[in-house]
Amino acid sequence: VTEKSAIFIIFGGSGDLAHRKLYPSLFRLYKSGILKDHFAVIGTARRPWSDDYFRETVITSLEDYFEDDKKIMEEFAKHFFYQSHDVNDSEHYIALKNLAAKLDDQFETGHNRVYYMAIAPRFFGTVAEHINSEGLKTDGYNRLVIEKPFGRDLDSACELNGNISKAFPEDDIYRIDHYLGKEMIQDIPHIRANNPVFEKALNNQYVSNVQVTLAESLGVEDRGGYYETAGVLRDMVQNHIMQIIGAVASDDPKATDAKIIHKDKTNLFNSLKVLTAEQVDTDFVRGQYDTDKLGDQKAYRQEDNVAEDSEIETFTAGRIEFESDRWSGVPFYVRSGKRMPAKSSRIDIVFNEKVADLGIKANTVVTLLIEPEDGNSILINGINYKESGQDFIKFPEEEEFDSAREAYESLIIDILSGNRVHFTLWDELRSTWKYIDSIRERWDSQTPDFPNYLSGTMGPDAAEMLLERDGNSWAWD
Ligand code: NAD
Repeated sequence: VTEKSAIFIIFGGSGDLAHRKLYPSLFRLYKSGILKDHFAVIGTARRPWSDDYFRETVITSLEDYFEDDKKIMEEFAKHFFYQSHDVNDSEHYIALKNLAAKLDDQFETGHNRVYYMAIAPRFFGTVAEHINSEGLKTDGYNRLVIEKPFGRDLDSACELNGNISKAFPEDDIYRIDHYLGKEMIQDIPHIRANNPVFEKALNNQYVSNVQVTLAESLGVEDRGGYYETAGVLRDMVQNHIMQIIGAVASDDPKATDAKIIHKDKTNLFNSLKVLTAEQVDTDFVRGQYDTDKLGDQKAYRQEDNVAEDSEIETFTAGRIEFESDRWSGVPFYVRSGKRMPAKSSRIDIVFNEKVADLGIKANTVVTLLIEPEDGNSILINGINYKESGQDFIKFPEEEEFDSAREAYESLIIDILSGNRVHFTLWDELRSTWKYIDSIRERWDSQTPDFPNYLSGTMGPDAAEMLLERDGNSWAWD
């Protein structure tokens, strides 16, 4: 284990993301020795907190996740400092700069800075500009980490990107898509690269269709206010589902160089077949959850901070196509929704009959389970790949799935190592937003008949019909 040195400046250090994801991940890195003596965390937020109070909040949230001795948590928390901060106040950035310089001396962090935007997206641009204009940058590395959402359409994403790229070069920008931190997604290139028969079959000669499902059983919970500005198309399809498709469908799984990997993905997204208004009507389904069968659960329109006549979709299913030598003619069916029967994230690759020529049984379905994360991460026709009797997918034992590492933990290691492979680049976002906008525009011009699916079901019937029309069906049903 190589120890890393840096000062983390977390904008939004009192928030939900920081406490639920970032501090537990930093603690794991501390326990594994990746963070040890040479790091400090500055939490910033509006409220006037003391360092001690901030440390208590950090320890309290760690106690929700870990059963370690409180002593270790206290040692860890000694690296935490608090600075009250208003994003628009230049003076506050100067104070932040001075505190960081002091901690740099105290912890010998090598002048390295990670600026983490765990704050409302409307502040991303302002904060990035102030970091630059108030001279916070050092002669160490200065990496900017941006949370989702990155814009709400192509125009706003362009504007945001313009603002942050005035302050930071693209190579120092780490846009988080936490699905890219998940073990299975990171394993996909290895699986492809190490299994020649499987890789040989991954194209329009042998694949009938690909299905990506990100299903949640929960509703919007307490995030109704945010969700009303988003909807599942923006919240899940533009980013996570597209990036998952990128891992499965890109051209060169052997590539290890970040630039090549990103170029490959950008090429794929540039080949997305943008839908006409009429195609949106036939190829994309939207839904919004109602109560459940028994009438026990709240319909979306009854949730807190949700309009009584909200037209926001909590479910979508769609048919995506690419115009490329490798993939044209193969439908990529995507689906995501809230209040579905179970939490499940999976990729189902459905092969056709011709795949028998490669020694794979005709019509085989390979399932890559992203969540739940357990030992059965790859299924062949519904059976653990090792017991399936087909051996076109093998994994060296030492590279067995290791889902011990949380997505955020793995992404923070990448940030500290300067590895941008598992982050999204601007060119990728531009193409995916352009695609999503064409759907959104059509939907915004029509009034949906919501609610249209019961909580605890697989969404509206139209989502089944979408595949039936092509003579296909969902592998997870
Ligand atoms: P939150 O509302 O819990 O926290 C927001 C933080 O910003 C607080 O610390 C608050 O004090 C601070 N803040 C607000 N206004 C400020 C101002 N004017 N000046 C300085 N600080 C200010 O939000 P969150 O849920 O932690 O989300 C933070 C970011 O992470 C958002 O961009 C969100 O989209 C993204 N995100 C959150 C989650 C999640 O699970 N919570 C998941 C993915 C992405």
